[in-house]
Amino acid sequence: MYRSHNCGELRASHINTEVTLAGWVQKSRNKGFIVWVDLRDRYGMTQLVFDEERTPKEMMKRAEDLGREFVVQVKGKVIERASKNPNMPTGDIEILVSELTILNEALVPPFTIEDKTDGGEELRMKYRYLDIRRNPVKNNLIFRHKVTQEVRNYLSQEGFIEVETPYLIKSTPEGARDFVVPSRMNEGQFYALPQSPQTFKQLLMVGGIDKYFQIVKCFRDEDLRADRQPEFTQIDCEMSFIEQEDILNAFEGLTRHLLKEVNGVEVEKFPRMLYDDAMRLYGNDKPDIRFGMEFGELNAVAQHKDFGVFNAAELVVGIAVPGGNSYTRKEIDKLIDWVRRPQVGALGMVYSRCNDDGSFKSSVDKFYDHDDLAKWAEVTGAKPGDLVCVLSGEKNKVRTQLSALRMELAERLGLRDPKVFAPLWVMDFPLLEWDEDTERYHAMHHPFTSPKPGQLELLKTNPGDVKANAYDLVLNGNEIGGGSIRIHDKETQALMFDYLGFTPEEAKAQFGFLMDAFQYGAPPHGGLAFGLDRLVSILGGQETIRDYIAFPKNNNGRDVMIDAPAPIDDKQLTELSLKLNLKS
Ligand code: ASP
Repeated sequence: MYRSHNCGELRASHINTEVTLAGWVQKSRNKGFIVWVDLRDRYGMTQLVFDEERTPKEMMKRAEDLGREFVVQVKGKVIERASKNPNMPTGDIEILVSELTILNEALVPPFTIEDKTDGGEELRMKYRYLDIRRNPVKNNLIFRHKVTQEVRNYLSQEGFIEVETPYLIKSTPEGARDFVVPSRMNEGQFYALPQSPQTFKQLLMVGGIDKYFQIVKCFRDEDLRADRQPEFTQIDCEMSFIEQEDILNAFEGLTRHLLKEVNGVEVEKFPRMLYDDAMRLYGNDKPDIRFGMEFGELNAVAQHKDFGVFNAAELVVGIAVPGGNSYTRKEIDKLIDWVRRPQVGALGMVYSRCNDDGSFKSSVDKFYDHDDLAKWAEVTGAKPGDLVCVLSGEKNKVRTQLSALRMELAERLGLRDPKVFAPLWVMDFPLLEWDEDTERYHAMHHPFTSPKPGQLELLKTNPGDVKANAYDLVLNGNEIGGGSIRIHDKETQALMFDYLGFTPEEAKAQFGFLMDAFQYGAPPHGGLAFGLDRLVSILGGQETIRDYIAFPKNNNGRDVMIDAPAPIDDKQLTELSLKLNLKS
């Protein structure tokens, strides 16, 4: 028996018990005549004591030589501590050691294994197994386990069954590049790793599974924007014989369950917002509604004066910054510099101070009088003491810019409290999205998403206006889930592929299996997928998803611990009938 108890469980009630513990040496303090050692395992820390009077000389020597992170086993008696430590659950007791076995020695770790470590991220990733010994990382993994456990409990109780789908598949277009795997047995042919199990879960619906879920890895070879991982985890779900309303209710239920069980937070029915309104009011399809600062469109009240910049703009739009009138001129200039940074890209910013006495002072006083500025305040909901910030330009661009400013200001104002949860559904996304690079329409969600009833005809005349039965679940300014009602008949699916620029041959080659399946009685179906990593990090109140992944990759998609990706040897290449044609 390696241990009778773990390092977190002994209390005063165990005094005089003989115990065996095993764990890592957190640290030791040597006072010459007495040596204290903190022994750590997953469950906590227990103090060991060796002293001249009671410990044999030989053991005393070995205790003195114990290094950080040595793995040891001790037998001994639980005794009451002379000076108790109320900050430690085991702080009332210590172990008077009678037997010390060193199970494994350890090199000095490259960073301290403490809650606040001296190791930078790259170093911690290289030695992630040491990082995992630290409480913050360990606790995050335990937290993630709790979330996935609750997901499984809830969905199972609701009649969903977890079905595994393959990883070695054929491409599913979800808007990213595929990772591919060469097949040795099928020379010159490649599997693709799934960007999601999308087509498989639809085939499970054709197979009559009715309610499916899977906690599953997905792989997307994207340029890694901040806080994305090339492999990530989804809670992937699909249901048959449902309408959009059923899906929203089912997964609102799951989200509410998680907030309650994991965070102890009860949330009202989730608000629903049309995509068009989200863009108009927040300039963003994943609005953070923990705070107001909604956009006010000012074209009607700010154009047709003598201010050419606004007159020439497609959209003039502003927000009220609560208490912003207290900003100094210098602070406002800094804000203007902030919106002009290339990452935001605004050309400038107009502002109007809302003074406590009801007067206004704007950066464009030459063109706008008190009544004009009063209207700006009214439209943006500004009160005395606030600052109205106004941007103008091309509609989509200016919305994105003002959204960035809104989020930045809210962050500075402390309005983005990670302990407050504000979920909502954003609905009726456009079916298609124009892609500037390829100069064609792409499916905004994916090609299996159905248009809203009666809108199929619009595809021919105004494709950009067609709305989809597609919805996102948004939490605190993050998209945590998204899905759609699917097309379930062959004709409509063929039409969609056609609009998306697939020739019938290409569509058949890539998705023949799905269209074939649709001919054998496909039920109406739909679903969604949650991004588990992001969901867990938001529920956990932390910034980056890497904090909740045991072995994450860095921003270049590398695992710096195992040093992957890496070249393969010539023998492997030959077996796979591959020859490299490297650019550098
Ligand atoms: N497969 C979709 C995605 O990964 C989710 C869905 O439509 O269910 O975003």
